Amino acid sequence: MASCIIHRPLESLEKGRTMRKTFIAGNWKMNGNKESITSLLKSVSEGVHNLDCEVAVCPSHTYVGLAVSLAGEKIGVGGQDLRVEESGAFTGDVSGPMLKDLGCKYVIVGHSERRTIHGESDEVVADKFVAAQKIGLTPILCVGETQEERDQGITDEVVARQLDAAISAAGIEAIGESVIAYEPVWAIGTGLTATPEDAQAAHKAIRDKLAGLNASVAEKVQILYGGSMKAANAAELLAQEDIDGGLVGGASLVAQDFVAICEAGSAQ
Ligand code: PEP
Repeated sequence: MASCIIHRPLESLEKGRTMRKTFIAGNWKMNGNKESITSLLKSVSEGVHNLDCEVAVCPSHTYVGLAVSLAGEKIGVGGQDLRVEESGAFTGDVSGPMLKDLGCKYVIVGHSERRTIHGESDEVVADKFVAAQKIGLTPILCVGETQEERDQGITDEVVARQLDAAISAAGIEAIGESVIAYEPVWAIGTGLTATPEDAQAAHKAIRDKLAGLNASVAEKVQILYGGSMKAANAAELLAQEDIDGGLVGGASLVAQDFVAICEAGSAQ
């Protein structure tokens, strides 16, 4: 029987890639103080202002205002989490309107440290996703499997389940107005990184899943890789067809390293 191979034209592959600008976001977690953040942002601003990629930093909530005042046009600022409710008796929490009021453009939702340490379920994360968009913040939705889930071979199912929660709460079109970060939990802060091939396979599975629901959403949504991305491995990861940027933890605290990752992003 004659086999029929359909070649996707290179032009259309490149079109998909170029319509998604590379986006490098730093997740500073619970690190920094006024002095270190001022100096880090000054160096990062100098290093990235001419680069052809989107850049953001996500400081601890206490330093969001300072970061916004220093970041300038090129660097967007994001929160690391938000509470679903807009105000009220929620001691210690921060709402979307507060982040928006301070000048944030983004907010991370569903980081694995929130899912594990704070017990956030897929549904809570999905509600945060909706709350972020409601106030005009772009959610950076983190998804990814644990080592145990990877060992069981259920990476794609786990990621699909996490995505489905957000899709059913917000609708598929809303995913097109967000950023997805694929972060294998076993690679976060461990120094272990997914191989470019494994990361690409996971990103493609995400894009294929979205394409099954809405092709234009799949084509436009930026899917970042997160998990021990550093200057030494960024270029190879970012060269993959479906990897549109990085969510960077540890390396985003060192200006030289973060700028080098942004340079690798700009070269794509
Ligand atoms: C993260 O916390 O989102 C992350 C990717 O951390 P690291 O780069 O340190 O692995």
